[in-house]
Amino acid sequence: MIWLTPPVYGSKEERIESRGYTCEYCHGQGGFLGDRSSPNDSEWKICPVCEGSGKMDAEVTIKWKPNKRENDKQRTHKY
Ligand SMILES: [Zn+2]
Repeated sequence: MIWLTPPVYGSKEERIESRGYTCEYCHGQGGFLGDRSSPNDSEWKICPVCEGSGKMDAEVTIKWKPNKRENDKQRTHKY
């Protein structure tokens, strides 16, 4: 869970980094042995998601923007 607080220093962009997650795609293995399409292939395939590291870092960028009331006026419901 991310706790949001409006920026204090006038910055409209905020970055939150969270590191060391296990790659779900390869289950932390960093790759796969063989290829399902060719059973004889025992070549080690590097995981395209974590690029072989087996771990993932999360980077969340939060963009703050002014509340524009004009946008709300356009959202008129016809029903
Ligand atoms: Zn992976």
